[in-house]
Amino acid sequence: MPRLCRAEIALLLFKPSPSRGGLGGDGVDVRVKSKTIPVPAFPLKGKEASKGSGANAWPLILSLSKDALQGGGGRRTPIAALALLIAMVAFPAMAQETRDPPPPTFRTAVADTHIVFPDTVSQGAMVIGKVPVGSEVTFAGRTLRLTPYGSVVFGVGRDEKGPLTIAVRKQDGSKDTIRIAVTPRDWPIERIDGVPPATVNPPPAIAARIQREQARVVAVRVRNDARTDFTQAFIWPLQGRISGRFGNQRVYMLPDGSGTPKSAHSGMDIAAAQGTPVKAPAAGIVTFAELDLYLTGGTLVIDHGHGISSNFLHLSRIDANVGDRVEQSQVVAAVGATGRATGPHLHWGMNWFEVRIDPLLVLE
Ligand SMILES: [Zn+2]
Repeated sequence: MPRLCRAEIALLLFKPSPSRGGLGGDGVDVRVKSKTIPVPAFPLKGKEASKGSGANAWPLILSLSKDALQGGGGRRTPIAALALLIAMVAFPAMAQETRDPPPPTFRTAVADTHIVFPDTVSQGAMVIGKVPVGSEVTFAGRTLRLTPYGSVVFGVGRDEKGPLTIAVRKQDGSKDTIRIAVTPRDWPIERIDGVPPATVNPPPAIAARIQREQARVVAVRVRNDARTDFTQAFIWPLQGRISGRFGNQRVYMLPDGSGTPKSAHSGMDIAAAQGTPVKAPAAGIVTFAELDLYLTGGTLVIDHGHGISSNFLHLSRIDANVGDRVEQSQVVAAVGATGRATGPHLHWGMNWFEVRIDPLLVLE
């Protein structure tokens, strides 16, 4: 489990000042309600570092507990973790053998009663919040899955006006309601020339095919895995100029000079040459991989857990299969111009379930 504690890092990643992105100035506003977030100084070592010695016994507990909570540690894991925890309490000397001063205790982290969400978010943002472990959190008609450390994630739609309302019911039955303001963004109109007319106004048989294909992609986005891959700091899948922004209102210009308004751009386009390798922006499980969809051509979906997913379109090649686990920065595909595309580029879309979010905000 090399990503030990990533979830915990993520919830502490709210930056101290508003983050204004260099690209468009529409970064997620990250002021937080509470300025006093306890920051356990977890040593960020892998499982290797947590083997054996009393010096590192506490991260082992953490590791085991996380496994147990995610259902990945086998049946004996919770018992083992509990036994270790009891041992630690009963024989505190074990923990005193550390050369470094012991970190703030695990129990402090678990007993954390803070609720931390940004005050303000942008349309299209991915929002990570923190609640006491054991809480029940509802937002937009969903009960949000909690990480073992009490982090939750959700997406803010392009047209969301806000304020958002999040209901938190703590383990002791007390309830809190969090309200988050949504900062509106400008959505420019973008005219696109050179798209084949048949892909803009497809004949009925093609329209039916498009619907069937899109339904299959939509279906994989209902997945709600316990994996916390979305807590990684996302990286660019490749380097390149942004040639199309998330949310822009698109009008496809036909050779006869007429314009057909289409739905808003669902992701971010990055200009790149045919065949440029595409890297996984964060780890995940491949949930869709097909080379020949009518509109989107080579199409790959990677699920990052808790309903967060990435999709890559117009690919010329896909290097992973459905069910594969991919790690961050692993090459998963190559850039192409398949489907409704005017030239080679990477379209990177992101979702929180059916809600489309802006990859650029996730990168910031
Ligand atoms: Zn695109």
